[in-house]
Amino acid sequence: MPARGAGGRTAPARRRAPHPGSNLPRLVSELNLILIGPPGAGKGTQAENLQADFGLPYIATGDMMRAKRQEDSELGREIARVIAAGELVPDDVVCKVLLERVDAEGDDGFLLDGFPRTERQADVLDQALERRGRKLTAVLLIEAADDVIIQRLAGRRVCSNGHVYHVDFNRPKHEGVCDIDGTKLVQRDDDKPETIEKRLAVYHDETEPLVARYEEAGLLRSFDGTRPPEEVHRHIRATLAVLRLEEDL
Ligand code: ADP
Ligand code: AMP
Repeated sequence: MPARGAGGRTAPARRRAPHPGSNLPRLVSELNLILIGPPGAGKGTQAENLQADFGLPYIATGDMMRAKRQEDSELGREIARVIAAGELVPDDVVCKVLLERVDAEGDDGFLLDGFPRTERQADVLDQALERRGRKLTAVLLIEAADDVIIQRLAGRRVCSNGHVYHVDFNRPKHEGVCDIDGTKLVQRDDDKPETIEKRLAVYHDETEPLVARYEEAGLLRSFDGTRPPEEVHRHIRATLAVLRLEEDL
């Protein structure tokens, strides 16, 4: 029986182009991916490449929360306060916007960054995918120790469209200007030393337990985030290629 969607809709079978050498269209093995790891491990950096490699919609709850904090509303102001303090936005708020985006753009696969960050968020995602007859393909853990993270975040610079640089490790061609869109590079206000410390503590307390959960589920793939970005990218790409082959067998 086909799976039922959230609104009682019947979820359509996902199909892709015919397999080479065959005339028959086949059911798709969609890539439903999560990037997980401490703040500053390099998730956004890797996501830029992976989006291009696999044509996946990139859904970063950090970007979504930064957009929401601009809203002139009680909620916008509360989100601004939470981000500046290095705390987490309430689960219900994040889950709602995340699921709306997945439903709007993630029909053929998705790349999540920064979600889930709590057990509750992971439960909500599992239940939502199950209701839609879908499942996660893999959870990509990018690992880096706290001292590396502190150095990374202190030197991170971003443009208004979310492209990421580092004052030492990933410098733009022209200082202070994004290579891709020419906009000004700035330091995020939560990349200040006191807030970095808080965000790391929140990661260890709230998010790190999810690593064991996904490992038990057989979904976890780990990558050494202290290697150069191109090397991390090659490893992830190779892992995803193997996963796809396994699904195709
Ligand atoms: P996250 O999305 O996990 O918070 P980012 O991708 O924004 O992390 O990376 C944090 C900072 O570290 C950025 O300044 C980025 O340029 C830099 N960076 C990312 N990956 C690497 C790497 N493998 N080696 C050195 N610096 C990196
Ligand atoms: P990021 O860009 O992923 O580092 O996220 C920036 C900030 O947005 C975090 O420090 C949180 O305050 C908030 N945020 C992003 N994603 C989530 C999430 N899944 N749950 C709660 N808060 C989040």
